This record gives sequence, structure tokens and C-alpha cells, in this order.
Amino acid sequence: MIDASAPVSATTERVVAELRKRSAFVMVSHVKPDGDTLGAGLALGLALKRLGKRVHYFQQDPVPRNLRFMADTQYVSREIPADLPEDALWVFCDMSNAARAGEFLPKLERKNILDVDHHLGNEHFGELNYVLTGECSTGTCVMHLLRALEVPVDADIATCLLTTIMTDTGGFMHSNTTPEVLQLSAELMRLGANKEEITQEIFANKRLAALKLLGRALDEATVEQDGRYIWSYVDDAMLAQCGADGEDTEEIVNHLRSVEGVEVAALFKHFDGEIRVSLRSSGRINVQAAAARLGGGGHFRASGLTYVGALRGAVSAVEEALKAEGL
Ligand code: AMP
Ligand code: MN
Ligand code: MN
Repeated sequence: MIDASAPVSATTERVVAELRKRSAFVMVSHVKPDGDTLGAGLALGLALKRLGKRVHYFQQDPVPRNLRFMADTQYVSREIPADLPEDALWVFCDMSNAARAGEFLPKLERKNILDVDHHLGNEHFGELNYVLTGECSTGTCVMHLLRALEVPVDADIATCLLTTIMTDTGGFMHSNTTPEVLQLSAELMRLGANKEEITQEIFANKRLAALKLLGRALDEATVEQDGRYIWSYVDDAMLAQCGADGEDTEEIVNHLRSVEGVEVAALFKHFDGEIRVSLRSSGRINVQAAAARLGGGGHFRASGLTYVGALRGAVSAVEEALKAEGL
């Protein structure tokens, strides 16, 4: 049955008409950026520049070390140029709401917002919302736009796009790796995407500090629900002990999820004065719905939220939310 209340995505043609009409753009990525939010924005930005448009990149956080191989990352910053035209289009990539861009984002008029995303529960916060929840990455949403724009995809753009796919499919391992995704990836490699570099930078470039931190988090892991639920945490003290920083925490939750018999893994990241929770599911429990109960969001199998309060409270609130979703 068609859900008449579900918001409808703008058509590719409508979005492309808007992209052609505007002359200046700001590509916006989310806080704690990953290869999808940044790669999608860079790919679209590079393509728009090829069409003679003016493009800036807004990102509150610095570009993570392992994403600096993508073209144009040297232009990514939280500064907004003073002479930016008033009718610049702000293109939010890979986020369900504008708050995910962080508090440094200037106040924007809705008519200047394009929301390009693939998250379930996207809040359609733009004037135009290109939200394709069946896509594996925001980058593949951008691919549809580039095709309709008829802008040639060069090797730099192809590398950004393949980065979005490899990031959000976990290197072609997650269930969103469909035959179509593999076909698109093959096409990007033919266009010159540097798969070797992406693999090296994103999956094989771990700092020893990150592996030490993983070891600490595994030591602290708690298994519950007859092995179906596993959770752990990292805090400021553990980061300091290992000489690690926030970027070194990204992969830990996936290791927890890979434990035999686990249906849901949770990692509580308690540092820099906040608690961010990463949730991963092996496919039975909808962790997007669980995160949404606590103000977060994401996808069926990968979601996150920020909890205000103490770690103990976060642990029990997340467990309650997961139980409400059938854990
Ligand atoms: P992470 O665990 O940080 O890799 O995030 C997994 C997924 O959850 C990503 O798709 C994020 O966009 C989403 N997500 C993470 N944190 C939040 C949050 N605070 N609010 C909404 N979505 C989030
Ligand atoms: Mn993302
Ligand atoms: Mn994504």
C-alpha cells in the first residue's frame, strides 16, 4: 500500500532545473564527517564548477585525515565568504535535518536549501528535497543528478563518488550492496576512480592508537540478552591512555557487531563533554527506529544519537529503546 502521508522526493528534473538556474552554491556536510557526506558534496561541487558555477564547501569539523585524498578538500572550511550572493543554494548532503550540520551553520532561508539524502526519516527540511531512501549512499543520489545534468564525470569526481559507495556499504559488505551498486562502482572505476587509494585510506590505514583503543573497548564490552546485544564505551581517559582521538573510534562498533550471535551492537562515545551513541544491527532490529526514540536517526542497520546526561543513563535509555523495537 502507498503511504500517502510519506513526504515525496522532488524529481530529478526539478532539482536539475534548480541547479542550472542558480549561479552560486555551498555544499554542506554533517558534523563528524564521513566519506559519504563529504564525497557527495565534493562530487556535486566539482561538477558544478565544471559548469562554470561558483562553489564553496561548508563543514564545521576539519576534514578527517583519511578523507584528504579527495579533490577540493583543501577548500572545505567553516568560513562563509562575505561576498556570497544572497541567492546561493545551500546543498545539504547526507543528513536528516539541518541541525546535523552543526551550530556554526548560519541562519538560512528555506528557499535556499536543497536537501540531498538517503536516510529513512529525513525531515524534508529544504525547499527541494531529493531524498532517495533506496540508494546505498548520498553519492549515488548525486550520480542521478550528474547524469541528468549531462556533466562529464572525470577521475576526481568518480573517486569522490566511489568513496561514498565504499563508505556506506562498508567496502561492499553491507546488505545495501545490490547488483546495481556493483555496476555503478564498475562504471566509476572505468571513469578513473582510484579504488586502491580509497581502500588504502579508508580501510587499511589504521593508526596503532586506534587499534589499541579498539582493544580497550573490547575489554570493556558487556554482552546481554543471551549474546544478542553487545555494548561498550570509550571515554576521555581511554583516549588519553591510547594516544587516540575521536577519529579513532569510528570502526569500533562494527567490530562489536561482528561478534557471533550479536543482533545489535552499541558503542557509547563519552568524550569532549558529550555522549554520542553508535548503533549497528545485523538485520532483525531496526536501529533507526530505536535511535529516533531518543532524538537520533540513521538507517535500519546503522544509526546514531547524542545523549544528554550521564553514561549510566545513556546505557539504560538505549537498552529500553532497543527493547521497544523488539530486542
Ligand atoms: P555513526 O554511528 O556515527 O557512524 O552513524 C551511523 C548513522 O547514524 C549515520 O547514518 C548517521 O547519519 C546517523 N546518525 C549518527 N548520529 C546521529 C544523530 N545524532 N542524529 C541523527 N542521525 C545520526
Ligand atoms: Mn553520513
Ligand atoms: Mn550516507
